[in-house]
Amino acid sequence: MDISLFAPRHMDIGGGAASRIAAMLHRLGVSRPLIVTDPVMVSLGLIDRIRAPLDQAGIPHAIFSDTVPEPVDTVIEAGVRFAADLDIDCIIAFGGGSPIDTAKAINILRAAGQGARMRDFKVPHTADHAALPLIAIPTTAGTGSEATRFTVITDTGTDEKMLIAGLGALPVAAIVDFELSMSVPARTTADTGIDAFTHALEALVSRRANPISDGYARAALRLIGPNLRTVYREPDNRAARAAMMLGATLAGLAFSNASVALVHGMSRPIGAHFHVPHGLSNAMLLPAVTRYSLNAALPRYAEAARLAGFAPDTDADQLAGARLLEELETLNHDLAVPTPSAFGIARSDWDRTQPTMATQALASGSPANNPLIPDETQIMKIYAEIY
Ligand code: NAD
Repeated sequence: MDISLFAPRHMDIGGGAASRIAAMLHRLGVSRPLIVTDPVMVSLGLIDRIRAPLDQAGIPHAIFSDTVPEPVDTVIEAGVRFAADLDIDCIIAFGGGSPIDTAKAINILRAAGQGARMRDFKVPHTADHAALPLIAIPTTAGTGSEATRFTVITDTGTDEKMLIAGLGALPVAAIVDFELSMSVPARTTADTGIDAFTHALEALVSRRANPISDGYARAALRLIGPNLRTVYREPDNRAARAAMMLGATLAGLAFSNASVALVHGMSRPIGAHFHVPHGLSNAMLLPAVTRYSLNAALPRYAEAARLAGFAPDTDADQLAGARLLEELETLNHDLAVPTPSAFGIARSDWDRTQPTMATQALASGSPANNPLIPDETQIMKIYAEIY
């Protein structure tokens, strides 16, 4: 089997690791960072977890904090303009998946030079080149973007959430410090946690899974399964937050090397058209897509159920698979995941947008990695089912 492996060159993982940012820069031989973050990190003062040690080490830094949740191309272009005249030699991406993806996209567009547009890089094109070394520091336990070769940017011209893939989107290094995630509100804790779970599950069942991605996915499921509800109910539980943060990074490594599948393919268009946070749109789809796909990869789904603690080791595949479906429904109930209708999306808008969403889902390439590959009609059926 041929395996093409992608991972950051260095990862510093553990409670308080963010305070070692200056040592990380020193190791990489860089000293003039641009920090890309979001306004919440600034107003909560979380950004000081890296600014203080940078100040202490006498490292000057610029900050771009005008990022938005679920990043759009116009903000990336603004970031490129902001950075154009700065004397910088690296980028620190600090925040949830949105600022990290924004920083990655700024880095790709900066390398491409004048006239380049974000849409020039969407799959099936590749984005292998970036301007500067990028160090990613996640503050949510979710996307795994700190360890992936992807960035997801919405095209404001077409309302398409574009998947952009390549070496240029892979951080050179990451600092994974669960203490940064202690302040994540309950709703976002649930959404990002389900996102990480979905990454691990889709990587394990993906047609492009390989022994290395399997190792990451299995380790991620063992950490995420038993801790997902705990972090939602007990936000101050440090052990659970630490498990989720490491689990999310491992899940990122897993899907970056095996690809995601149908849930993510169908989820991005929901996010783009109806502004549903990424993890939440995954959660809306996860039970129905798993039911659709289950028998095409039953041993793998059953294994995932056992690893996550949803089924005892003694369960045969059929029973473990059934328990997985049951558990995913219960999980959505326990984590208060709304249906699209309960989220406030009008039936007429949902029905009208389905064909476009199905076309965009297929075009992203992700459904082709699913154990059972759907056509447009089947995708529309699932959209209709979950409303
Ligand atoms: P996010 O970055 O949009 O953050 C959600 C909210 O939580 C924001 O308001 C943010 O300010 C807040 N927040 C973040 N950390 C916090 C903290 N420690 N304390 C308090 N509030 C905090 O959400 P996300 O789910 O992390 O990222 C979603 C984005 O990531 C989407 O655009 C999605 O498409 C993308 N994504 C990328 C990849 C990838 O591989 N590149 C994978 C999955 C998802």
